[in-house]
Amino acid sequence: NKKILLNKRPHGKPTRNDFKISSEEVPIPNDNEVLLKTLYVSVDPYLRGRMNEAKSYVPPFELNKPLQSGIIAEVMESKQADFKKGDFVSGNLEWKEYQTSNGKGLHKVTQNEAKLSSYLGVLGMTGLTAYLGLTEIGLPKKGETLVVSGAGGAVGTVVGQVGKLLGCTVIGLTGSDEKVDLLTATFNFDHAINYKTTPNLKEAIKSTCPNGVDIYFDNVGGEISDAVVANINKYARLPVCGAISLYNETEVPVGPRLQPIILTKSATMRGFIISDFAEKFPAATKQLSAWLKENKLTSSETIVEGFDNIPQAFIDLFEGKNKGKMIVKI
Ligand code: NDP
Repeated sequence: NKKILLNKRPHGKPTRNDFKISSEEVPIPNDNEVLLKTLYVSVDPYLRGRMNEAKSYVPPFELNKPLQSGIIAEVMESKQADFKKGDFVSGNLEWKEYQTSNGKGLHKVTQNEAKLSSYLGVLGMTGLTAYLGLTEIGLPKKGETLVVSGAGGAVGTVVGQVGKLLGCTVIGLTGSDEKVDLLTATFNFDHAINYKTTPNLKEAIKSTCPNGVDIYFDNVGGEISDAVVANINKYARLPVCGAISLYNETEVPVGPRLQPIILTKSATMRGFIISDFAEKFPAATKQLSAWLKENKLTSSETIVEGFDNIPQAFIDLFEGKNKGKMIVKI
C-alpha cells in the first residue's frame, strides 16, 4: 500500500525530491469506517501553497505526512451504514493507494451521468470555481468582452465555455500554440493568445478586444494580468481566482501599481476561495451537468497513469503540460 509523503518544503519550483514514496500495510477498517481504494487523484496548483510552512486558508501539509487532494475512490469494504462495497466516492483524501475513512466529507458519485473523473474536473472543484467565480463576481452580460488567463487549464476551459454560453465574446490567454488552437477549435473561444510568444501582450489584448475588457477572470496574476488590467473598461469586474505565476516566487515581485486603473475605471477586483460559495454548489452542479448532457460544455482532461506519477503530474502543472484538468489514474 504505497503512499506519498511531503519530504521537504520546496524552495521555488517543486521537484521530485520534495516528495517521498513509501509504503505501509493496507489498513483494516474499524466499526463505522470504510476501506477505500484510490482510483483518480486530482493535482491542483493550490497544493503548492500548502507545501509552504506559512498558514493560508488551509493549514500547511506536515513534513513526512501524506499529501492530500481531491480523490475518487471505490469502497472495498464497509462498516459504515451510509456506504456499501462497490460505491464510488469523492473526497479530500490522502495520497495513498488504500485508506480508511469514517465517511466524513465523502460524497457518493456514480457513472450514470458522467465519467467518474469528471467529479474532479468539470463537475468538481474546478468546474464550480469557473462557474461561480464567473457568474457571482464576473457578472457577465450578453455582448460583453471576457478575458480569461490560464485559459487552457481546468478552470479556464470552463470559464471560457460558460462565458460563451452566456453571450460574451471570449478571449483566452495560454502558453502554447497547441492550446491556442484547442481553445478556438474545441472550446468555442473567439480568440486565443499565446502569452509566451506575443512580444507586447498589452497591445495584443488591445487589438483583440476593440471594445475593451469588461470581465477579466484571473487565474495567473503577475505580468500577464498587468497587461489585461491596462485594457479594462469602466465598471469592469475582475474575479481573482488564482495567481499561479507567483506561487513559486521566493520573494514578492513588484509590478505596476494597478490602483489608479481600478479607481479611475470604477472597477471591482475581488478574490475568492470556492468554499465561499458552498451554498451555491448544488445549483451550480445542476447547471454544469445539464450543459454537459446537452453537449454545450466540453470536458477536457489530461490523464496521467500510475500512483508513482502523482508528484510529476503536479510539477507539470507549472510547466503547462496539461490541457484541461490534470488527473492521475491509479
Ligand atoms: P490549470 O489546469 O490551469 O493548470 C495550471 C496551468 O497554469 C498550466 O497548465 C499552465 O498553462 C499555467 N501556468 C503555469 N505556470 C504559469 C505561469 N508562470 N504563468 C502563467 N501561466 C502559468 O489549473 P487550475 O485550472 O486547476 O487552476 C487555475 C488557477 O485557479 C490556479 O491559479 C489555481 O490556484 C486557481 N484556483 C483557485 C480556486 C479558488 O477557489 N480560488 C479553485 C481552483 C483553482 P499555460 O500552458 O497556459 O502556461
